[in-house]
Amino acid sequence: MGVKTVDDGAAFEHPLYRTLLSVPGLTVATTALDQVLTWGMSNALWVFPMATSCCGIEFMATAASRVDIDRMGTIVRATPRQADVMVVAGTITVKMASRVKKLWDQMPEPKWCIAMGSCAISGDFYRNLYSVVPGVDTFLPVDVYVPGCPPSPEALMHGFLRLQEKIRKSRKGETVTPETNSELLRVTRPSIPRMVDHERTPEMDRAQIESADIATEVEVTPAVHASLAPEPTELASNISGPDLPAVLTELGIAATGELGPPLVPARRHLEVASRLKSRGYRQLVSVVATHWVPGTARKGKVPDEPEHFEVSYLLRTVGAGSRVATWAVRLAPGEPVASLFQLFAGADWQEREQYDLVGVMFADHPDLRRLMMPENYDRHPLRRDLPANLPYAPWR
Ligand code: SF4
Repeated sequence: MGVKTVDDGAAFEHPLYRTLLSVPGLTVATTALDQVLTWGMSNALWVFPMATSCCGIEFMATAASRVDIDRMGTIVRATPRQADVMVVAGTITVKMASRVKKLWDQMPEPKWCIAMGSCAISGDFYRNLYSVVPGVDTFLPVDVYVPGCPPSPEALMHGFLRLQEKIRKSRKGETVTPETNSELLRVTRPSIPRMVDHERTPEMDRAQIESADIATEVEVTPAVHASLAPEPTELASNISGPDLPAVLTELGIAATGELGPPLVPARRHLEVASRLKSRGYRQLVSVVATHWVPGTARKGKVPDEPEHFEVSYLLRTVGAGSRVATWAVRLAPGEPVASLFQLFAGADWQEREQYDLVGVMFADHPDLRRLMMPENYDRHPLRRDLPANLPYAPWR
Protein backbone atom coordinates (compact mmCIF):
# COMPACT_ATOMS: atom_id res chain seq x y z
CA MET A 1 0.00 0.00 0.00
CA GLY A 2 1.57 3.21 -1.13
CA VAL A 3 1.24 6.63 0.42
CA LYS A 4 -2.17 8.10 -0.31
CA THR A 5 -2.07 11.71 -1.44
CA VAL A 6 -4.88 13.21 -3.53
CA ASP A 7 -7.88 11.28 -4.85
CA ASP A 8 -7.77 11.96 -8.59
CA GLY A 9 -10.13 9.17 -9.54
CA ALA A 10 -7.51 7.05 -11.27
CA ALA A 11 -7.59 4.45 -8.54
CA PHE A 12 -11.32 3.93 -9.04
CA GLU A 13 -11.21 3.03 -12.74
CA HIS A 14 -13.34 -0.01 -13.42
CA PRO A 15 -11.68 -2.61 -15.72
CA LEU A 16 -14.92 -2.98 -17.71
CA TYR A 17 -14.73 0.70 -18.60
CA ARG A 18 -11.44 0.33 -20.52
CA THR A 19 -12.67 -2.75 -22.34
CA LEU A 20 -15.80 -0.97 -23.55
CA LEU A 21 -13.82 2.08 -24.62
CA SER A 22 -11.82 -0.08 -27.03
CA VAL A 23 -14.96 -1.20 -28.90
CA PRO A 24 -15.34 0.82 -32.19
CA GLY A 25 -18.19 3.28 -32.08
CA LEU A 26 -18.73 3.12 -28.40
CA THR A 27 -16.68 6.21 -27.60
CA VAL A 28 -19.69 8.39 -28.46
CA ALA A 29 -21.50 6.83 -25.59
CA THR A 30 -18.75 7.24 -23.03
CA THR A 31 -20.45 10.00 -21.10
CA ALA A 32 -23.66 8.05 -20.69
CA LEU A 33 -21.72 4.88 -20.06
CA ASP A 34 -19.63 6.58 -17.46
CA GLN A 35 -22.73 7.82 -15.72
CA VAL A 36 -24.16 4.32 -15.66
CA LEU A 37 -20.95 2.86 -14.26
CA THR A 38 -20.65 5.59 -11.65
CA TRP A 39 -24.28 5.12 -10.68
CA GLY A 40 -23.73 1.38 -10.34
CA MET A 41 -20.49 1.74 -8.44
CA SER A 42 -21.83 4.21 -5.91
CA ASN A 43 -25.10 2.35 -5.39
CA ALA A 44 -23.76 -1.14 -4.94
CA LEU A 45 -21.44 -0.71 -1.98
CA TRP A 46 -20.92 -4.08 -0.42
CA VAL A 47 -19.80 -3.67 3.14
CA PHE A 48 -17.30 -5.64 5.13
CA PRO A 49 -18.16 -4.96 8.79
CA MET A 50 -15.07 -4.62 10.96
CA ALA A 51 -17.12 -4.26 14.12
CA THR A 52 -15.14 -4.83 17.30
CA SER A 53 -17.04 -3.10 20.09
CA CYS A 54 -19.98 -0.85 20.98
CA CYS A 55 -20.02 1.04 17.66
CA GLY A 56 -20.69 -2.35 16.08
CA ILE A 57 -24.13 -2.35 17.71
CA GLU A 58 -24.92 0.98 16.04
CA PHE A 59 -23.67 -0.46 12.80
CA MET A 60 -26.10 -3.38 13.20
CA ALA A 61 -28.91 -0.89 13.87
CA THR A 62 -27.97 0.90 10.65
CA ALA A 63 -28.39 -2.33 8.75
CA ALA A 64 -31.69 -3.13 10.47
CA SER A 65 -35.14 -2.15 9.28
CA ARG A 66 -35.49 1.38 10.74
CA VAL A 67 -32.52 2.94 8.95
CA ASP A 68 -31.99 0.18 6.40
CA ILE A 69 -28.80 0.96 4.48
CA ASP A 70 -29.86 -1.74 2.02
CA ARG A 71 -31.96 0.89 0.31
CA MET A 72 -28.68 2.41 -0.92
CA GLY A 73 -27.68 -0.87 -2.52
CA THR A 74 -25.38 -1.91 0.30
CA ILE A 75 -25.04 -5.52 1.22
CA VAL A 76 -23.18 -6.57 4.34
CA ARG A 77 -20.87 -9.47 3.57
CA ALA A 78 -18.63 -11.20 6.07
CA THR A 79 -15.99 -11.80 3.43
CA PRO A 80 -13.37 -9.31 2.34
CA ARG A 81 -13.05 -10.70 -1.17
CA GLN A 82 -16.51 -9.54 -2.22
CA ALA A 83 -16.63 -6.25 -0.36
CA ASP A 84 -16.05 -2.65 -1.49
CA VAL A 85 -16.25 -0.80 1.81
CA MET A 86 -14.72 -1.66 5.13
CA VAL A 87 -16.56 -0.04 8.03
CA VAL A 88 -14.28 -0.02 11.06
CA ALA A 89 -16.72 0.25 13.94
CA GLY A 90 -14.99 0.06 17.29
CA THR A 91 -11.69 0.07 19.13
CA ILE A 92 -8.81 -1.57 17.30
CA THR A 93 -6.09 -3.10 19.44
CA VAL A 94 -2.53 -3.72 18.32
CA LYS A 95 -3.31 -7.43 18.19
CA MET A 96 -6.36 -6.82 16.02
CA ALA A 97 -4.65 -4.24 13.79
CA SER A 98 -2.61 -6.84 11.94
CA ARG A 99 -5.78 -8.85 11.24
CA VAL A 100 -7.63 -5.75 10.06
CA LYS A 101 -4.73 -4.87 7.79
CA LYS A 102 -4.68 -8.38 6.34
CA LEU A 103 -8.43 -8.32 5.69
CA TRP A 104 -8.16 -4.89 4.07
CA ASP A 105 -5.41 -6.13 1.76
CA GLN A 106 -7.66 -9.05 0.75
CA MET A 107 -10.38 -6.68 -0.48
CA PRO A 108 -10.21 -6.04 -4.24
CA GLU A 109 -9.79 -2.55 -5.71
CA PRO A 110 -11.55 -0.21 -5.89
CA LYS A 111 -12.29 -0.12 -2.18
CA TRP A 112 -13.05 2.44 0.48
CA CYS A 113 -12.83 2.71 4.22
CA ILE A 114 -15.19 4.35 6.70
CA ALA A 115 -13.86 5.00 10.23
CA MET A 116 -16.96 4.90 12.43
CA GLY A 117 -16.73 6.40 15.93
CA SER A 118 -14.06 8.10 18.00
CA CYS A 119 -12.18 4.87 18.73
CA ALA A 120 -11.69 4.02 15.06
CA ILE A 121 -10.88 7.65 14.26
CA SER A 122 -8.36 8.38 17.01
CA GLY A 123 -8.37 5.66 19.67
CA ASP A 124 -10.58 8.00 21.72
CA PHE A 125 -10.03 7.69 25.46
CA TYR A 126 -7.97 4.52 24.93
CA ARG A 127 -5.53 6.42 22.72
CA ASN A 128 -2.73 6.43 25.29
CA LEU A 129 -3.19 2.80 26.25
CA TYR A 130 -0.44 0.28 25.51
CA SER A 131 -2.81 -2.01 23.58
CA VAL A 132 -4.83 0.37 21.39
CA VAL A 133 -4.14 1.76 17.93
CA PRO A 134 -4.52 5.57 17.99
CA GLY A 135 -6.72 5.72 14.88
CA VAL A 136 -7.04 3.31 11.97
CA ASP A 137 -5.77 5.94 9.55
CA THR A 138 -2.30 5.02 10.83
CA PHE A 139 -2.53 1.89 8.70
CA LEU A 140 -5.65 2.20 6.48
CA PRO A 141 -6.48 4.92 3.92
CA VAL A 142 -9.66 6.22 5.52
CA ASP A 143 -12.10 7.90 3.10
CA VAL A 144 -14.86 9.00 5.45
CA TYR A 145 -14.80 9.74 9.16
CA VAL A 146 -18.07 9.40 11.08
CA PRO A 147 -17.51 11.04 14.49
CA GLY A 148 -19.38 10.20 17.67
CA CYS A 149 -19.25 7.86 20.62
CA PRO A 150 -21.09 6.08 19.24
CA PRO A 151 -22.32 7.74 16.05
CA SER A 152 -26.02 7.21 15.53
CA PRO A 153 -27.22 4.97 12.70
CA GLU A 154 -28.33 8.14 10.90
CA ALA A 155 -24.78 9.50 11.16
CA LEU A 156 -23.40 6.35 9.56
CA MET A 157 -26.05 6.64 6.88
CA HIS A 158 -24.79 10.16 6.27
CA GLY A 159 -21.26 8.75 6.07
CA PHE A 160 -22.37 6.46 3.26
CA LEU A 161 -23.95 9.40 1.45
CA ARG A 162 -20.66 11.29 1.76
CA LEU A 163 -18.80 8.28 0.42
CA GLN A 164 -21.16 8.09 -2.56
CA GLU A 165 -20.53 11.77 -3.21
CA LYS A 166 -16.80 11.18 -3.06
CA ILE A 167 -17.03 8.29 -5.53
CA ARG A 168 -19.13 10.38 -7.92
CA LYS A 169 -16.68 13.28 -7.80
CA SER A 170 -13.70 11.01 -8.24
CA ARG A 171 -15.28 9.39 -11.29
CA LYS A 172 -15.71 12.83 -12.82
CA GLY A 173 -12.05 13.54 -12.22
CA GLU A 174 -12.72 16.14 -9.57
CA THR A 175 -10.21 16.43 -6.77
CA VAL A 176 -11.56 15.27 -3.46
CA THR A 177 -9.66 16.70 -0.54
CA PRO A 178 -10.49 15.78 3.02
CA GLU A 179 -12.14 18.41 5.17
CA THR A 180 -9.42 19.33 7.58
CA ASN A 181 -9.91 20.38 11.15
CA SER A 182 -6.41 21.43 12.17
CA GLU A 183 -7.20 21.74 15.87
CA LEU A 184 -8.72 18.26 15.96
CA LEU A 185 -5.78 16.83 14.05
CA ARG A 186 -3.40 18.42 16.55
CA VAL A 187 -5.28 17.08 19.57
CA THR A 188 -5.62 13.59 18.17
CA ARG A 189 -2.14 13.38 16.70
CA PRO A 190 -1.21 9.71 16.95
CA SER A 191 2.18 8.44 18.04
CA ILE A 192 2.96 7.24 14.50
CA PRO A 193 2.27 9.13 11.24
CA ARG A 194 -1.10 8.72 9.55
CA MET A 195 -1.15 7.39 6.00
CA VAL A 196 -1.80 10.90 4.70
CA ASP A 197 0.91 12.59 6.77
CA HIS A 198 3.94 13.98 4.96
CA GLU A 199 6.33 12.26 7.35
CA ARG A 200 4.82 8.87 6.51
CA THR A 201 7.47 6.67 4.85
CA PRO A 202 7.22 3.58 2.64
CA GLU A 203 9.22 1.73 5.32
CA MET A 204 6.30 2.19 7.72
CA ASP A 205 3.91 0.73 5.15
CA ARG A 206 6.18 -2.24 4.62
CA ALA A 207 6.65 -2.80 8.37
CA GLN A 208 2.88 -2.98 8.88
CA ILE A 209 2.39 -5.37 5.97
CA GLU A 210 5.16 -7.63 7.29
CA SER A 211 3.78 -7.46 10.81
CA ALA A 212 0.33 -8.45 9.52
CA ASP A 213 1.84 -11.39 7.64
CA ILE A 214 3.75 -12.62 10.66
CA ALA A 215 0.84 -12.18 13.05
CA THR A 216 -1.58 -14.12 10.88
CA GLU A 217 0.81 -16.99 10.21
CA VAL A 218 2.33 -17.45 13.66
CA GLU A 219 2.80 -21.01 14.82
CA VAL A 220 2.02 -21.49 18.44
CA THR A 221 4.02 -23.82 20.60
CA PRO A 222 2.55 -24.48 24.03
CA ALA A 223 4.91 -23.56 26.84
CA VAL A 224 6.27 -26.38 28.95
CA HIS A 225 6.40 -25.92 32.69
CA ALA A 226 7.47 -27.99 35.66
CA SER A 227 4.93 -30.09 37.47
CA LEU A 228 3.78 -28.94 40.89
CA ALA A 229 0.69 -31.08 41.11
CA PRO A 230 0.55 -33.87 43.66
CA GLU A 231 -0.04 -37.39 42.41
CA PRO A 232 -3.75 -38.09 41.75
CA THR A 233 -3.86 -40.45 44.74
CA GLU A 234 -3.11 -37.51 46.99
CA LEU A 235 -6.19 -35.66 45.86
CA ALA A 236 -9.20 -35.79 48.12
CA SER A 237 -12.28 -37.53 46.78
CA ASN A 238 -14.79 -38.17 49.53
CA ILE A 239 -14.78 -35.59 52.29
CA SER A 240 -17.88 -34.42 54.11
CA GLY A 241 -18.47 -31.07 55.79
CA PRO A 242 -19.80 -27.63 54.92
CA ASP A 243 -17.41 -25.14 53.35
CA LEU A 244 -13.95 -23.68 53.06
CA PRO A 245 -13.18 -23.26 56.80
CA ALA A 246 -14.01 -26.93 57.36
CA VAL A 247 -11.84 -27.99 54.44
CA LEU A 248 -8.92 -25.96 55.75
CA THR A 249 -9.34 -27.51 59.18
CA GLU A 250 -9.48 -31.01 57.73
CA LEU A 251 -6.32 -30.40 55.78
CA GLY A 252 -4.59 -28.84 58.76
CA ILE A 253 -4.04 -25.57 56.89
CA ALA A 254 -3.83 -22.40 58.94
CA ALA A 255 -4.95 -19.76 56.47
CA THR A 256 -3.61 -16.24 56.91
CA GLY A 257 -4.66 -12.85 55.61
CA GLU A 258 -6.90 -10.47 57.53
CA LEU A 259 -8.11 -8.56 54.50
CA GLY A 260 -9.73 -10.26 51.58
CA PRO A 261 -9.99 -14.03 51.09
CA PRO A 262 -7.96 -16.45 53.27
CA LEU A 263 -4.40 -16.97 52.06
CA VAL A 264 -3.57 -20.61 51.43
CA PRO A 265 0.02 -21.86 50.94
CA ALA A 266 0.58 -22.24 47.20
CA ARG A 267 1.75 -25.88 47.55
CA ARG A 268 -1.57 -26.86 49.26
CA HIS A 269 -3.90 -24.94 47.00
CA LEU A 270 -4.70 -27.85 44.67
CA GLU A 271 -5.76 -29.98 47.64
CA VAL A 272 -8.13 -27.23 48.79
CA ALA A 273 -9.69 -26.94 45.34
CA SER A 274 -10.03 -30.70 45.04
CA ARG A 275 -11.79 -31.07 48.40
CA LEU A 276 -14.14 -28.23 47.63
CA LYS A 277 -15.02 -29.83 44.33
CA SER A 278 -15.85 -33.08 46.09
CA ARG A 279 -18.29 -31.10 48.26
CA GLY A 280 -20.18 -29.83 45.24
CA TYR A 281 -18.21 -26.72 44.27
CA ARG A 282 -18.20 -27.68 40.65
CA GLN A 283 -17.99 -24.30 38.96
CA LEU A 284 -14.77 -22.29 38.76
CA VAL A 285 -16.14 -18.76 38.56
CA SER A 286 -12.94 -16.76 38.38
CA VAL A 287 -9.17 -16.69 38.67
CA VAL A 288 -7.82 -13.19 39.26
CA ALA A 289 -4.15 -12.29 39.73
CA THR A 290 -2.88 -9.01 41.18
CA HIS A 291 0.65 -7.69 41.11
CA TRP A 292 1.86 -5.80 44.18
CA VAL A 293 5.00 -3.70 44.29
CA PRO A 294 6.32 -1.61 47.19
CA GLY A 295 4.32 1.56 47.58
CA THR A 296 1.12 0.14 46.11
CA ALA A 297 -0.28 -1.67 49.14
CA ARG A 298 -4.04 -1.83 49.56
CA LYS A 299 -5.87 -0.01 52.33
CA GLY A 300 -4.84 -1.12 55.80
CA LYS A 301 -1.75 -3.05 54.67
CA VAL A 302 1.93 -2.32 55.15
CA PRO A 303 2.93 -0.07 52.23
CA ASP A 304 6.42 -1.49 51.77
CA GLU A 305 5.76 -5.17 51.31
CA PRO A 306 8.19 -6.72 48.82
CA GLU A 307 7.01 -7.36 45.29
CA HIS A 308 4.63 -10.30 45.09
CA PHE A 309 1.55 -11.66 43.31
CA GLU A 310 -1.77 -12.73 44.71
CA VAL A 311 -4.02 -15.09 42.80
CA SER A 312 -7.57 -15.41 44.11
CA TYR A 313 -10.00 -18.14 43.17
CA LEU A 314 -13.76 -18.28 43.38
CA LEU A 315 -15.76 -21.52 43.24
CA ARG A 316 -19.49 -22.01 43.58
CA THR A 317 -21.89 -24.88 43.96
CA VAL A 318 -24.29 -25.38 41.11
CA GLY A 319 -28.06 -25.34 41.57
CA ALA A 320 -30.53 -23.85 44.03
CA GLY A 321 -29.07 -22.32 47.19
CA SER A 322 -25.69 -21.89 45.56
CA ARG A 323 -22.74 -21.26 47.88
CA VAL A 324 -19.38 -19.72 47.06
CA ALA A 325 -15.88 -20.35 48.35
CA THR A 326 -12.93 -18.04 47.74
CA TRP A 327 -9.28 -18.18 48.70
CA ALA A 328 -6.00 -16.73 47.51
CA VAL A 329 -2.37 -17.77 47.16
CA ARG A 330 0.58 -15.47 47.49
CA LEU A 331 3.52 -15.93 45.13
CA ALA A 332 7.02 -14.49 45.01
CA PRO A 333 8.15 -13.21 41.58
CA GLY A 334 8.80 -16.22 39.35
CA GLU A 335 7.13 -18.70 41.72
CA PRO A 336 4.57 -20.91 39.93
CA VAL A 337 1.24 -22.15 41.24
CA ALA A 338 -0.45 -25.42 40.26
CA SER A 339 -3.03 -25.17 37.50
CA LEU A 340 -6.62 -26.11 38.33
CA PHE A 341 -7.12 -27.45 34.81
CA GLN A 342 -7.25 -31.10 35.90
CA LEU A 343 -10.15 -30.25 38.25
CA PHE A 344 -11.97 -27.58 36.22
CA ALA A 345 -11.69 -27.48 32.43
CA GLY A 346 -12.67 -23.80 32.56
CA ALA A 347 -9.35 -23.01 34.23
CA ASP A 348 -7.76 -23.26 30.78
CA TRP A 349 -8.70 -19.80 29.50
CA GLN A 350 -8.93 -18.14 32.90
CA GLU A 351 -5.37 -19.08 33.81
CA ARG A 352 -4.11 -18.21 30.35
CA GLU A 353 -5.60 -14.75 30.76
CA GLN A 354 -3.79 -14.20 34.07
CA TYR A 355 -0.56 -15.52 32.60
CA ASP A 356 -0.90 -13.18 29.64
CA LEU A 357 -1.85 -10.03 31.52
CA VAL A 358 -0.04 -10.44 34.83
CA GLY A 359 2.63 -13.04 34.14
CA VAL A 360 1.68 -15.69 36.71
CA MET A 361 2.99 -19.15 35.79
CA PHE A 362 0.52 -22.02 36.18
CA ALA A 363 2.34 -25.32 36.47
CA ASP A 364 0.85 -28.26 34.52
CA HIS A 365 -1.36 -26.00 32.44
CA PRO A 366 -1.77 -27.86 29.12
CA ASP A 367 -1.49 -24.81 26.86
CA LEU A 368 -0.06 -21.83 28.70
CA ARG A 369 0.26 -19.16 26.03
CA ARG A 370 -0.99 -15.66 25.45
CA LEU A 371 -4.70 -15.10 25.10
CA MET A 372 -5.24 -11.39 24.49
CA MET A 373 -1.87 -9.88 23.64
CA PRO A 374 0.03 -10.80 20.45
CA GLU A 375 2.16 -13.93 20.74
CA ASN A 376 5.37 -11.94 20.38
CA TYR A 377 4.46 -9.36 23.05
CA ASP A 378 7.24 -9.31 25.61
CA ARG A 379 5.49 -7.80 28.64
CA HIS A 380 2.59 -8.41 30.96
CA PRO A 381 0.42 -5.31 30.72
CA LEU A 382 -1.44 -5.49 34.04
CA ARG A 383 1.70 -5.44 36.12
CA ARG A 384 1.71 -2.35 38.25
CA ASP A 385 5.15 -1.21 37.19
CA LEU A 386 4.29 -1.11 33.48
CA PRO A 387 3.91 2.40 32.00
CA ALA A 388 0.52 2.75 30.30
CA ASN A 389 1.50 4.75 27.23
CA LEU A 390 3.99 2.34 25.69
CA PRO A 391 4.80 2.33 21.99
CA TYR A 392 4.33 -0.89 20.07
CA ALA A 393 5.90 -0.71 16.63
CA PRO A 394 4.67 -0.63 13.97
CA TRP A 395 1.12 -0.15 15.23
CA ARG A 396 1.35 2.53 17.92
S1 SF4 B 1 -16.42 5.31 19.90
FE1 SF4 B 1 -17.53 5.02 21.81
S2 SF4 B 1 -19.25 3.69 21.24
FE2 SF4 B 1 -17.70 3.53 19.60
S3 SF4 B 1 -16.42 1.77 20.14
FE3 SF4 B 1 -15.46 3.60 21.01
S4 SF4 B 1 -16.23 3.72 23.11
FE4 SF4 B 1 -17.60 2.35 21.97
